[in-house]
Amino acid sequence: MSKYRGEITTVFLLPVSVVLKWFLAIKNLIIVLFNSTPKKHQQRIENIQNQLEKWRKEGMSQKLCTNRSPWKSMSELVPRYKQRYNRIDVDMHSILEIDVKRQVVKVEPMVNMGQITAALNPKGWTLAIVPELDDLTVGGLIMGFGVESSSHQHGLFQYICKSFDIVTPDGESRHCSEDENQDLFYSIPWSHGTLGFLVAAELKIIPAKKFVELTYQPTYTREELLEKFENASRQKSEFLFVEALTFSRDEAVLMVGKLADKPINSKNINRIGRWHKPWFYSHVQTYLKKGRGTEYIPLRHYYHRHTRSYFWEMKDIIPFGNKNWFRWLLGWTMPPHIQLLKRLQTETIQQLREKRHVVQDMIIPINYLAKSLDYFDKNYDMHPLWLCPLNIYENKFGKGFVKPFSSKNGTDDELFVDIGAYGTPTIPGFDGNSTLKKLEQFVIDHSGYQALYARTLMSEDQFRQMFDHELYDKLREQIPFVKKAFDDVYTKVAKGRLSPHDLKRNQADHEVDEEIEEELTYSN
Ligand SMILES: Cc1cc2nc3c(=O)[nH]c(=O)nc-3n(C[C@H](O)[C@H](O)[C@H](O)COP(=O)(O)OP(=O)(O)OC[C@H]3O[C@@H](n4cnc5c(N)ncnc54)[C@H](O)[C@@H]3O)c2cc1C
Repeated sequence: MSKYRGEITTVFLLPVSVVLKWFLAIKNLIIVLFNSTPKKHQQRIENIQNQLEKWRKEGMSQKLCTNRSPWKSMSELVPRYKQRYNRIDVDMHSILEIDVKRQVVKVEPMVNMGQITAALNPKGWTLAIVPELDDLTVGGLIMGFGVESSSHQHGLFQYICKSFDIVTPDGESRHCSEDENQDLFYSIPWSHGTLGFLVAAELKIIPAKKFVELTYQPTYTREELLEKFENASRQKSEFLFVEALTFSRDEAVLMVGKLADKPINSKNINRIGRWHKPWFYSHVQTYLKKGRGTEYIPLRHYYHRHTRSYFWEMKDIIPFGNKNWFRWLLGWTMPPHIQLLKRLQTETIQQLREKRHVVQDMIIPINYLAKSLDYFDKNYDMHPLWLCPLNIYENKFGKGFVKPFSSKNGTDDELFVDIGAYGTPTIPGFDGNSTLKKLEQFVIDHSGYQALYARTLMSEDQFRQMFDHELYDKLREQIPFVKKAFDDVYTKVAKGRLSPHDLKRNQADHEVDEEIEEELTYSN
């Protein structure tokens, strides 16, 4: 089955995926039309509080988690604890308020990127950061992490959040912001829902335009890339969007963009999101030969430029997917839904992915970018790599899971780079597990952070070296029943998730166990 994954994906998975996408689109529409009920927000909070009260009254014997299906998470891993924990209904999909004066949109946690852009863009507004996929949820991007090519200006997704409302296991609804309950406000991002249930967030919005004027600048030596990339990333006000793709040790293309109105000459418009267009990374690569160029991309097409090929992951799944004939005939079915890809995972695919495949985002101080790229060359030798600059800001406490880079001479630098490595390394004898362990230590040694949607093999000590737990630990002691309700973040992300194939096997074993248990009960 794994050998013919491309053919199976095309014949079986793509049609199912199209049906699923239509189903989800209709469901989203129904949610927006009938279930998006801002007025019932308070009622939904009370519903969570009632569920927590029941849990407390029943003796708090099980830990808690949200009731979101394990398959829906936009990670290649799936939570294993959902089978055993008490699931709390946090089905909250409403956009509560768009406040143009304060430039914020207030939303419930299950609102996703697709829903927000559909609501904001026609009104001439957009989120300051729009992470790539429509299905990414606000709750997931806050509790996990979120980044995009505007992050060198606005920081990680957490920094466009003006306030959070969270219900803690004692049933309290707590509001926090930079001015109120700051310790909670700075501890929620990266906490993966281990302090309470997020019920609302206020996010920064900015005026939108219809197009992005995007300039592609090829570079032909590593030094040229590093210099131009850092200059563009530090010119915060000049470009709203900055990212680069590497294509070999020396070749890369830097992209810088601004919001723009419709150009006078429509020849310069490239609607890159259309089904028959080449996958974005391969279009970018053509600039290595063509030289510097500028084009105008419709805003939504820009936001989702990497979606049709999941960056370049699809070339491993459907190797012929970027051929002309495939795009014209079946390009409209792409990409297959992540949920289905996960469900199709076989044991062989799982083993191959763990041993020979990489999906990781490592966030490194820009100071160490050159060294990190050398490290990737030596230990992975894979291209493209996604380079996305981002800021990590200091807060009043100087605390929280992540903080700016402090150099030995005492100066702080907020500028980091997300190095996204997705694909199959070409180092002979590459072993995914041992290389990941070494990479994680390299990232710790260079004051960096790992995006926790991906697989981690860190020990708890390493995890605590990477992420500052001081404020978080204090809150876990202070907030009543938190430890009874939630695992700590390390246990949840490092020990609490497994590959889709292992989950399916676990579920089957669980069902067999339950059947045996039922039979025993019956025969007794
Ligand atoms: C193909 C692909 C592309 C991606 N592209 C990007 C990208 O462009 N930019 C980017 O930043 N990231 C990207 N990601 C990663 C993504 O940011 C993370 O997976 C992120 O955590 C959001 O995923 P999610 O909405 O599915 O949240 P989940 O995985 O469902 O949730 C993440 C965590 O938040 C917790 N949580 C969620 N809601 C609540 C709540 N209401 N209360 C308490 N806890 C909650 C969950 O329990 C979980 O621990 C990508 C991932 C994939 C697979």
